[in-house]
Amino acid sequence: MRFATKAIHVGEEPLFGEGHSGDVIIPIHLSTTFARLEVEKPTGGYEYSRTANPTRSALEKRLASLENGKYGLAFSSGLAAEASVLLALLNSGDHIVAFNDLYGGTIRLFNKVLKNFNIEVTYVDAQNPINVKNAIKKNTKILWMETPTNPLLRLCDIKIISQISKEHNLITVIDNTFMTPYFQRPLELGADIVVHSTTKYLNGHSDSIGGAIITSNDTLYEKIKFIQNAVGAILSPFDSYLVLRGLKTLHVRMKEHEANALKLAQYLEQSNKVERVFYPGLPSHPQHQLAKSQMFGFGGMLSFTIKGTKHQAKKFVENIKIFSLAESLGGVESLIEIPSLMTHSAVTEYGIQTNIPENLIRVSVGIEDINDLIDAFDDAFKKI
Ligand SMILES: *Cc1c(COP(=O)(O)O)cnc(C)c1O
Repeated sequence: MRFATKAIHVGEEPLFGEGHSGDVIIPIHLSTTFARLEVEKPTGGYEYSRTANPTRSALEKRLASLENGKYGLAFSSGLAAEASVLLALLNSGDHIVAFNDLYGGTIRLFNKVLKNFNIEVTYVDAQNPINVKNAIKKNTKILWMETPTNPLLRLCDIKIISQISKEHNLITVIDNTFMTPYFQRPLELGADIVVHSTTKYLNGHSDSIGGAIITSNDTLYEKIKFIQNAVGAILSPFDSYLVLRGLKTLHVRMKEHEANALKLAQYLEQSNKVERVFYPGLPSHPQHQLAKSQMFGFGGMLSFTIKGTKHQAKKFVENIKIFSLAESLGGVESLIEIPSLMTHSAVTEYGIQTNIPENLIRVSVGIEDINDLIDAFDDAFKKI
């Protein structure tokens, strides 16, 4: 099956026969526990909903299928998924090599939580894979990457980094939240684990916090599945239903996000109010060739530096119509924010030098009419 067909059907095939009604949409299974006929084994395949729940299982199956992986696991947030991967695979004394331009919450998890367990992280500029290789130590266990990064839209070469990882017997984790499996499938490029915040594009409607991991490795799956049950940060049945529903239109939404982002990026590149535009779909992006070779599209996220200081940037985002001034991303509605003052304000506090300019504005380009979005930009530029 192709992507769009899988996005609509996998995990939700209608069931017939005794006790089944042929539902086209899977029920939200609210039962916390499942009765059995014999003591030794669960009759219907389920025991207790923290361990496994039919609605969550349907979502996990679909997520695996879209990433072309063997297994999926759904968590109560992207960070819960990340924390479960780390708990499952690391011991005290281990070391991680990470991209120095990660999601702020991931950096907080690494620097404020893992530190207490004597787990060390080295941040490198992974745009050049040699930097990743050079940072590997005897106790390194995981290479943790995001591509493209947030908010500077930098890329790393998943294939080369996965090769380096294999040569050193390490585990490559790719946060694929920005691209989604519609535009990028890291497992096909050699990565071991994909993590997602389903809160963003996968659910796509800004009404559910969730996370996921996908892998094809039996051992890694067993370890993470064990932690999912042992720690319990699972996605609820209702949220599982929401993400299953959101996924049905993922391919349609992603095409629109990308078309709008590209037009907005081109508009910004022409504007005399703008210093620089960061969007991997522009030929001016320094890694445009890598973007073309490892992604099937360029996504809906872009950033730009406005001519002026943070005062002009603030005035711009506070005045612009249609775009909500808000953190988060990936919903059908357009959002705008200033990373240095909002999403990434705490990052420097953790000692990470990310060089995020204070006049940088990040946009999650929604799927409204592009002409209205560009008109809103025109108006807001006039007011700074
Ligand atoms: C939002 C986000 C996360 C964290 O996910 P939550 O669902 O907010 O816990 C992780 N990585 C990236 C790239 C994100 O955008």
